[in-house]
Amino acid sequence: MSLFKVSRPATWQACVSCGEEFLESQPVTRCGCGGLLEVRHRGIDASPAELQAAFRTRHQSVEGPYRSGVWRYRELVLPSAPADMIVTHPEGNTPLLERATVTSWTGLEFLRMKHEGHNPTGSFKDRGMTVGVTQARRANARAVACASTGNTAASMAAYAAQATLPAFVLIPRGGVSVGKLAQIHAYGASVIEVLGDFDDCLRVLEAVAPSLDIYLLNSINPFRVEGQKTVVYDLLDQLDWDPPEWIVFPAGNLGNTAAFGKALEEAFSWGLIPRLPRLAAIQAAGAAPFAAGFREGFARRHRVRAETIATAIRIGDPASWDRARVSIERTNGVVTTVTDEQILAAKRVVDHSGVGCEPASAASIAGARRLREEGLISRDDRVVAVLTGHILKDPGAILDDAEGPRVVAVEPTTEAVTRAIMTS
Ligand SMILES: *Cc1c(COP(=O)(O)O)cnc(C)c1O
Ligand SMILES: [Zn+2]
Repeated sequence: MSLFKVSRPATWQACVSCGEEFLESQPVTRCGCGGLLEVRHRGIDASPAELQAAFRTRHQSVEGPYRSGVWRYRELVLPSAPADMIVTHPEGNTPLLERATVTSWTGLEFLRMKHEGHNPTGSFKDRGMTVGVTQARRANARAVACASTGNTAASMAAYAAQATLPAFVLIPRGGVSVGKLAQIHAYGASVIEVLGDFDDCLRVLEAVAPSLDIYLLNSINPFRVEGQKTVVYDLLDQLDWDPPEWIVFPAGNLGNTAAFGKALEEAFSWGLIPRLPRLAAIQAAGAAPFAAGFREGFARRHRVRAETIATAIRIGDPASWDRARVSIERTNGVVTTVTDEQILAAKRVVDHSGVGCEPASAASIAGARRLREEGLISRDDRVVAVLTGHILKDPGAILDDAEGPRVVAVEPTTEAVTRAIMTS
């Protein structure tokens, strides 16, 4: 039974499986049927041109939530959030970069990198977290928690600190890069290392969270998805709302896949864009259950034991599967894989261009190259690749790269240094 058949509030939550509806303020993480929830908004009383103009004007703000590259799209994200409840760093407004060496490596003519590593904690997770922690505060949560391969935890720890909420983090022991681990501790979260993988962490946390009255901030939280939609709104704004043919991005737990498809569908239905770009979700070959599902027309759900150097996407049982599937189907999207070798090769090209990114992010570039080679992406298609995290998130991946740093140690003499320079 629908709660709001007659007159709906501005925003509510609905189950993507059975359609059951919940109030916006209800801190539920799943429907009774086990389905994931999504946030829905009533139509907006403004023309597309009015909205686009407002988004741009707010970009000039010097104080308040509109400085944020999430909250300047407030009508599309969470219109009901009162300004004084919003927990914002600010975040978003990340650059859209072009580097000739990267473009030519992919075989494309038009490639832009949407660098989400420029967010305050160094990954796109901040976009979802500002909305998730704002919602936690509005729900009077006593504490927040997440399972994480590192970036979600680092982001949640930072925003929880800002909101003065206790933060609990479950991470797989040995599965988190040193940059992320240091960050999580530094922001003051309580860290619980689980002797298992990410999928174990999420399963256990989902089971205990309700009885402990803890607000769950994994990307199954539908408000995080709302914030992550703004990766797409930001890049569309930067392209003057002239959509590219493709948006390519790494896919692990599939929160982004869910968010990007929702963002595009809503932008299209609100008249902000004239056509839908196609989504290309890229998985690491050793952690590719969603790609396996895609190849079979999503006939069934796959689970694998995940292994890849790209720890941010080392996920074998992605939580947002159902929402992500809708995104791929509705955007005529594709899901493909790249090997760790291809990820590292792409990362070297991105790093040497002076841009830099963490390994999972380089999967976007490796995936764009693969799809171009296979002819799925045409040479003259306009492509935006999302770089999800900052280069310093995973220093180990750089220092341990067999084709990585060549270091010479020399005596502190002019001759030795001269020789080292002349011979390198
Ligand atoms: C979280 C994360 C991903 C994966 O995103 P999903 O939404 O889980 O698919 C990719 N790259 C980086 C750097 C991340 O932090
Ligand atoms: Zn349901």
